[in-house]
Amino acid sequence: MNGFFEWRDAPAADFAVIGDPVAHSQSPNMHSAAYRALGLPYTYLAVRAPEDELSPALDRLAALGYLGANVTVPHKERALAWSSKPDDLALRIGAANTLDFRDGTATNTDAPGFLHTLADLGIAGGRALLLGAGGSARAIAAVLPAAGFQVSIWNRTGARARSLAEEFGLNYVDRATAEFDLVVNTTSIGLSGAELPIHWGAATASGVAYDLVYGDTAFLQSAAMHGMRPVDGKPLLVAQGALSLSWWLGVDAPFKAMEEAVA
Ligand code: NDP
Repeated sequence: MNGFFEWRDAPAADFAVIGDPVAHSQSPNMHSAAYRALGLPYTYLAVRAPEDELSPALDRLAALGYLGANVTVPHKERALAWSSKPDDLALRIGAANTLDFRDGTATNTDAPGFLHTLADLGIAGGRALLLGAGGSARAIAAVLPAAGFQVSIWNRTGARARSLAEEFGLNYVDRATAEFDLVVNTTSIGLSGAELPIHWGAATASGVAYDLVYGDTAFLQSAAMHGMRPVDGKPLLVAQGALSLSWWLGVDAPFKAMEEAVA
């Protein structure tokens, strides 16, 4: 657990990650390391805001002089609605993870960040299954088909997955099996230690199991036991964070320093 502030108690700073829960977030360590590497005097804090209090929380950070914020679970769709000037990518995805308080703009760095990690891991095309239908699933659903994948989607609440499938031209499935080249867990279940109802029996041995949550989650442990290659959320954390930093500050992000900070 890392330190965080309730939004009403957050002190003045330059940047923040806002979410609920947020105590697990490595973003403050990672961005602070980046500012040190760049010789910049900025500060970056973790701030908790419950689901129905995002808007007043963002208004308060803006009034305190924050320059920008990353937005995490469960707020990304509401963050888009809060922004007065979301960019085309955030609008197409329907969710924003990066806000600039100076001009009210918003973008989504999860989508390009995810593609960046696939390229780095040498994963290029095939059959993919998305587990989950929240903000991060929307980001990936919006870009994965154009990257050469035939994408299926499953979610605990089936209606949400069906509607995402319709919107992004994916194949809806009501049963999750591991018979795919790439299985991406975009649900937040890994934060609780619980497991998704996945049928692992038919796992593709050369397949990749990618959990957006970082660490050795129950999903990644089961995947590894069935011969799949486990990838946790750290590469994506660094990729989306580096893109956010460049978007805010207009400089190249110090990728290595950010990677080392979350290793
Ligand atoms: P959302 O709150 O928007 O969506 C949560 C999703 O998780 C929904 O599909 C929800 O299903 C599902 N879910 C939650 N609890 C359970 C459960 N007990 N059993 C089954 N499904 C469950 O979250 P986000 O999409 O914004 O984020 C999801 C996760 O990805 C978070 O843990 C976040 O930290 C992580 N993430 C990590 C990133 C990184 O940089 N590594 C980047 C982006 C996200 P339902 O619709 O049925 O409620």
